[in-house]
Amino acid sequence: MKKPLSYCLPLILALATVGASAQSSKARPQPAGHAGSNKASEATLPYTPSLDVSAMDQSVDPCVDFYKYSCGGWQKKNPIPADQTSWGVDGKLYQDNLDFLRTILEEAASAKKDRDAVTRMVGDFYGACMNEKEVEKRGVRVLKPDLDAIARVKSAHDLAPVIVHMQLAVPATSMVFEGSSSQDPDDSERQIASFDQGGLGLPDRDYYTKDDDKSKEIRERYVKHVQKVFELLGETPQAAAGDAQTVMHMETALARASLTRVERRDPYKLKNKMKVADLEKLAPNFDWQAYLREASAPKFEILNVTSPAFFKEVNRQLAEEPLANWKTYLRYHLANGYSPYLSSVFVQENFDFYSKYLRGAKEMRPRWKRCVQTVDRDLGEALGQAYVRKAFSPELKASTLDMVKRIQQAMEQRIQQLDWMSPETKKQALSKLHSMRNKIGYPDRWRDYSSVKVVPGDLLGNVKRATEFEAHRQINKIGQPVDHGEWGMSPPTVNAYYDPQMNDINFPAGVLQPPLYDAKMDDAPNYGDTGGTVGHELTHGFDDEGSQFDDKGNLKDWWTKEDKEKFEARTQCVQDQYAQYVVVDDIHINSKLTLGEDVADLGGEIIAYIAWKDANKGKNLQPVDGLTPEQRFFIGFAQWDCANERPENQRVRAITDPHSPPYARINGVVVNMPEFAQAFRCKAGQPMVNPPEKVCKVW
Ligand SMILES: [Zn+2]
Repeated sequence: MKKPLSYCLPLILALATVGASAQSSKARPQPAGHAGSNKASEATLPYTPSLDVSAMDQSVDPCVDFYKYSCGGWQKKNPIPADQTSWGVDGKLYQDNLDFLRTILEEAASAKKDRDAVTRMVGDFYGACMNEKEVEKRGVRVLKPDLDAIARVKSAHDLAPVIVHMQLAVPATSMVFEGSSSQDPDDSERQIASFDQGGLGLPDRDYYTKDDDKSKEIRERYVKHVQKVFELLGETPQAAAGDAQTVMHMETALARASLTRVERRDPYKLKNKMKVADLEKLAPNFDWQAYLREASAPKFEILNVTSPAFFKEVNRQLAEEPLANWKTYLRYHLANGYSPYLSSVFVQENFDFYSKYLRGAKEMRPRWKRCVQTVDRDLGEALGQAYVRKAFSPELKASTLDMVKRIQQAMEQRIQQLDWMSPETKKQALSKLHSMRNKIGYPDRWRDYSSVKVVPGDLLGNVKRATEFEAHRQINKIGQPVDHGEWGMSPPTVNAYYDPQMNDINFPAGVLQPPLYDAKMDDAPNYGDTGGTVGHELTHGFDDEGSQFDDKGNLKDWWTKEDKEKFEARTQCVQDQYAQYVVVDDIHINSKLTLGEDVADLGGEIIAYIAWKDANKGKNLQPVDGLTPEQRFFIGFAQWDCANERPENQRVRAITDPHSPPYARINGVVVNMPEFAQAFRCKAGQPMVNPPEKVCKVW
């Protein structure tokens, strides 16, 4: 059970997932080397400057293609490692973090005495994951208790307890649907139960519904993958082929009843509050009482269903699909979800389909890397403590906090100066800005994992228990006050997010490292890069989606009608601009999906520029390496997103990723900033200068 209402809007894709399952996110970097023998206390994070002149390609005219000019050298010097599906500045940094965490974990795993509770827990978890011999020895037998539970089901009505236990224990996958808690969209201080669509093995519902040749090919290849999983469970190829068709047929019906990603950007569509009795009316063939009892859910009155049509479809299938088909569906998702933690044949099949075929990886990530990521996902705030001690000094916290405050002030200035917004709406916008909390580095209070039983040598058991711990932690929030100190990302994560219901911006220690934030470097590239990221997250509070939530995080319209219309015309400008950009082959950006991110990219950089100018008022800044301070601000911005990507991965992201591709995230912003044209003396009519009537300006 994961948080179903996901309003978190990360800058980069979330990354702390393990294995190669369908839900695993933007894959991450290759190890540069192995620091295994170092003591954790001696391990260091490598340094790359936030503005790297050698990463540029100065043979390119910045006014023609600014991304190539800033990142061309980086792209040439940094081919995609074999185990990666994309490779960028952020990915390299994440790789450094993994190397560092590996050193900590190896030491924690091998130490025999004098380990504190946290060290013992993360060390044993990692040790069990690395014990490949034991995992092989246990083989497919580890699935037997769960497979037996599925086999014992006597009627569709009896499916609920089996489904809930699989939802609680299988990580990074969704079993039929998702049940958890979320903040009440109308009262953000209240936690209510929440039910969301799910149940698919491909990364999005569109894979099941699109009619082009590539989509058909992917579906055929997916059915072969499902068949292989059944064969690994011991079925004959013939029986497995039949079962694979059953899974495909049930998932296709679920996909057709699912909301699209664009529909899910409308928070009103996701708001369907009801009582338990209404849920029982919506899907009467499912035993909700048994489900809630087995989930150990607290008693509650109100719940939210994000997609009622989906639950009607589940209900229909409960009546119309033979029970044997349901059992087939569950067996597959059980084995598929657990594949990364099973013997090598399962791991290999999972990689072959999800990473190699679907996203273009050439090689599997080494086991240590997958294991570090598993610990980071399952015990992130235990492992993160050592990371923070090493990588996040009080001085760093103070300097980034100062930057955040300056960016917030710049946003305030910007709102006050907007010529298209009425004083009435401005007052509301400022109130929202002033209510926004910011969280920097790591939580004030670390999560207590002491109730998770970690057993040496029991990888699957450890993963199950950690997943159940997190699922119950979420469920137990129902009826409890909201914890504003909670983090949705672990400290080493190279990412950031804004949460509209919390109305807070969150910057883990992992994203505040060089080359993204470089304490050794001057303000210009730092404001261009991390300043832009801060501005980006802050602007999410005012993008087409975030702007529908008020200062308290409630879904409430605070705009005058005229201002709303003007705002929509302005975001439409951004949507039209990005619709022109190509992701890969003939696939254009789905700019209805990326609109929030594109608006945040543009607004973020504009306010970062204002904040930078303010922070350096009266100073006589000098050129460095022949580049003016203004030029260095913009190159710092572009170099946060230098990247190479495999075409297969670009295809997946064109469907699933709300972020535009790297070149568009840079060039799409600078074409709208006269400050950029001035810095590089670009002339009207050049590609990096939008004609005045086409300049988009929202915030
Ligand atoms: Zn974002």
